[in-house]
Amino acid sequence: MENIFDYNLDEIKELLTPSFRAKQIWHWLYAKYENDFNMMINIPKDMRIKLNTKFNAKNLEIKDIQVSSDGTKKYLFETFDNQTFESVLIKMRDKQNDDKGNIISSEKYTICVSSQIGCKIGCRFCRTAEDGFKRNLSAGEIVEQVVAIKKDNNILPQKRVNIVYMGMGEPLDNFDNLIKAIKIISHIDGLSISTRRQTISTSGISPMINALGELNIGVGLAISLHAVNNETRNKLMPINKTYNIESIIESVRNFPIDARKRVMFEYLMIKNINDDLKNAKDLLKLINGINVKINIILFNPYENSKFQRPDIETAKKFVDFLISKGQLATIRESKGIDIDAACGQLKYKKEKLKHKNSFT
Ligand code: SAH
Ligand code: SF4
Repeated sequence: MENIFDYNLDEIKELLTPSFRAKQIWHWLYAKYENDFNMMINIPKDMRIKLNTKFNAKNLEIKDIQVSSDGTKKYLFETFDNQTFESVLIKMRDKQNDDKGNIISSEKYTICVSSQIGCKIGCRFCRTAEDGFKRNLSAGEIVEQVVAIKKDNNILPQKRVNIVYMGMGEPLDNFDNLIKAIKIISHIDGLSISTRRQTISTSGISPMINALGELNIGVGLAISLHAVNNETRNKLMPINKTYNIESIIESVRNFPIDARKRVMFEYLMIKNINDDLKNAKDLLKLINGINVKINIILFNPYENSKFQRPDIETAKKFVDFLISKGQLATIRESKGIDIDAACGQLKYKKEKLKHKNSFT
């Protein structure tokens, strides 16, 4: 059986006559979150039967949901081949003024999507890296995470949602599937989430950053820089021996100008490794002349992790220094830390799944 979410609109059109049926099916999938072809009642019965014999409209099963005290939810998905991976729904309060100047507070959603099961890159501070690499997620498996989470939370199709490719895996190491997924997610007849609301986070595979730039699809880019010299970065992220800091900076400089405005440099701060002001000064030198935002992430410790979280005062000093020099910089709020849903903490726990299965 094939995964219907792996197909873009043109590919479905090619399969069906008349081709307008494709749009109707997409409406069921992406605006009504319908996972059963039999329920797509404006589609002729014989076509529904045909679809049922070829496709699955539900390929991911929600195996577990953990809810954090701050409202963050972590989803454990199981795939057709019994692999598991995680995605995270982050809720934030969003305050806006209406036309009369009243403050309206509403919920803002960000979905943190996985691109691979495991990861090949092997960063020393990352929990996902510990289990090694299993396989790429297909385009459909990337798309369906968003559909399933929107459905599970009754998030209306028109509600604005941000997508960050910051879950498990290195998105640019699964380039073709990622791009196909982004196009389906942003398609007006698909999930209709603009590429401007989608951000790819990468460990810095410079040739793929260049390839992404050439596509010029408007998606935001976040670079996991984490160190200001190659010596330190080599130790934290072995990939730096292949694509070093200079090659990454060069790729960012060549990124399309519009999208470059929204490039973010993520700086994972680790106690006594990269947290003093000398690093902040070198960071400024490194990005001199490029218009970027810096986002400081405090290392999230996990069981048996080798590093320590710096104290917040150290991080504040670092960020204040950057700001005092006119650099846009923030400290990222750690969401979902109590359920291990924060950045870099995603790793499927086998014990939990077994436990759950014994009751179902
Ligand atoms: N592979 C991509 C995206 C997934 S990781 C990348 O590396 O960018 C998302 C972010 O979490 C990255 O910035 C990563 O460096 C960071 N991260 C990994 N482990 C972490 C940890 N233990 N604490 C805090 N952030 C971590
Ligand atoms: Fe992979 Fe990103 Fe983790 Fe590095 S930080 S091992 S690239 S998921």
